[in-house]
Amino acid sequence: MAFTLFHGAIGYLFACLITKDKNLRRIGFIGGIIPDLDGLFLFTDFFFNTNYYPLFHRTLTHPILFGIFAAIITVIIMHKLFKTNKIKTFVVFLSGFLLHDAIDLLYNTTTTGWAIPLFAPLSTEKYSFPFIGTYTGVFNALCMIILIVT
Ligand SMILES: [Zn+2]
Repeated sequence: MAFTLFHGAIGYLFACLITKDKNLRRIGFIGGIIPDLDGLFLFTDFFFNTNYYPLFHRTLTHPILFGIFAAIITVIIMHKLFKTNKIKTFVVFLSGFLLHDAIDLLYNTTTTGWAIPLFAPLSTEKYSFPFIGTYTGVFNALCMIILIVT
């Protein structure tokens, strides 16, 4: 599992490539971390002794349709509050979101079982393209270095 803030850093860095607007760059960061909202079940598991995290992580807020929905909500809020360009806001948010999913898809899911139902609720098929696999520790260390540098 990639560190959630690393996903945000990737979204932020991508936004830096296409805009100088600081609000839009922040939206890229938020788009990068939003998919891990379903990881908050880790706290209910810890504090209330439930077992939701392994059940729901990478299922509820990782599908692409959720990203599109969240991007539309973000566009509405950001345009109202900061008068940001609607199309740029949508593109930056969704780019961060999709980059998050792309990185998650690369992780070895044979140990976690966390393949992603990318097209839910239209399809229940889950996807993964394990690449990083056993190098997760090294990859996470690199992620932390990138995060600190950015
Ligand atoms: Zn994720």
